[in-house]
Amino acid sequence: MNPFTFTQAGDIDAALARLAIPGARPIAGGTNLLDLMKEGVMQPDELVDINGLGLDSVEEAPGGGLRLGALARNADTAYHPLVRARYPLLSAAILAGASPQLRNMASNGGNLMQRTRCYYFYDLGTPCNKREPGSGCSARNGLNRLHAILGASEHCIATHPSDMCVALRALDAVVHVRSQGGVREIPFADFHRLPGEQPELDNTLAPGELITHITLPEAERYVKHSAYIKVRERLSYAFALVSVAAALELDGGKDGKVATIRSARIALGGVAHKPWRVEEAERALEGKTAGLEAFGAAADILLHGAQGHGQNDFKLTLARNAIEQALATAARGTEAAKGIAKDTPQGDAQ
Ligand SMILES: Cc1cc2nc3c(=O)[nH]c(=O)nc-3n(C[C@H](O)[C@H](O)[C@H](O)COP(=O)(O)OP(=O)(O)OC[C@H]3O[C@@H](n4cnc5c(N)ncnc54)[C@H](O)[C@@H]3O)c2cc1C
Ligand code: SF4
Repeated sequence: MNPFTFTQAGDIDAALARLAIPGARPIAGGTNLLDLMKEGVMQPDELVDINGLGLDSVEEAPGGGLRLGALARNADTAYHPLVRARYPLLSAAILAGASPQLRNMASNGGNLMQRTRCYYFYDLGTPCNKREPGSGCSARNGLNRLHAILGASEHCIATHPSDMCVALRALDAVVHVRSQGGVREIPFADFHRLPGEQPELDNTLAPGELITHITLPEAERYVKHSAYIKVRERLSYAFALVSVAAALELDGGKDGKVATIRSARIALGGVAHKPWRVEEAERALEGKTAGLEAFGAAADILLHGAQGHGQNDFKLTLARNAIEQALATAARGTEAAKGIAKDTPQGDAQ
């Protein structure tokens, strides 16, 4: 590991002053940054410990919705009564990620900023445009089982590994950031980037900007019918091959009658450089009977233009099946979806 300076910031202004210096980076739970530093992939000159900034609450947002502090731990967020009651989709997505120990350390801000799990990105002995711009992409013709089928570029086919971010995208979250220049709000759709010609940039955060909190608009209409489906190689410590956050607002469906979809939200993880959402697919579900025909049509729109790179060709079928399964599970009800989650070893003891 390279030498670096470690500073504990006592308040936000002190943190922002340190972060304005090129080469300085914030550290929260350290569950991703420290690994990257040990591998020599990231070499900050200064680590600014932001854990003392008091950004760790989960509370009502002014004007409705919820405000998630950047330093609130993933576990505290997932189990917060307001999150469980009003955003069960977010709770399920967070609990599908990592392990209980990691979720106790991992912060919300750090989860948004975590870097790709492409094997070559962590291997200094191989070319990687994300780690070293212009060096090439080893994954295109290499091991690419985990990699993108949507939105990739010739320069990078990496995926964003977060589960939490897939639900945040479906729920129209907003990321609030602060720098010495002031405050800024970034709609979640614009926070993560596609690789394009600059795969080294994962997101639209500017140097010196610190995430202070994330807000969620009110989403009561999706409480009863939501599901997070994560398909992975094994049931713990595995990142998503494909994941789906789905939420439906249904009319009818009681006493054996068929339900009609009033509105829908759906986002995919594990398939692109950012959580993948195509709002046209949601509009296509509106007014349709909640059934396989409509779900398949939505999958067609979401996966339009999808392309494998050899080892990950299977994701084309996997993603389609996962989309249909997530929408069908959401239609059965959030409680039924929770039953599925409890069957996995990821469920924390509470
Ligand atoms: C074995 C393992 C398995 C995992 N499995 C999953 C999984 O299945 N699903 C999943 O979603 N995640 C998974 N993770 C990733 C884990 O969720 C992230 O490592 C974690 O969320 C990062 O949060 P942190 O607070 O530890 O971030 P840190 O490691 O402290 O920081 C990560 C990055 O975020 C930046 N940063 C942190 N806070 C801020 C802020 N407020 N503003 C601006 N920048 C900031 C840091 O500078 C750094 O670049 C796994 C991790 C491990 C080690
Ligand atoms: S996919 Fe992206 S992160 Fe992976 S080797 Fe290629 S450039 Fe690097």
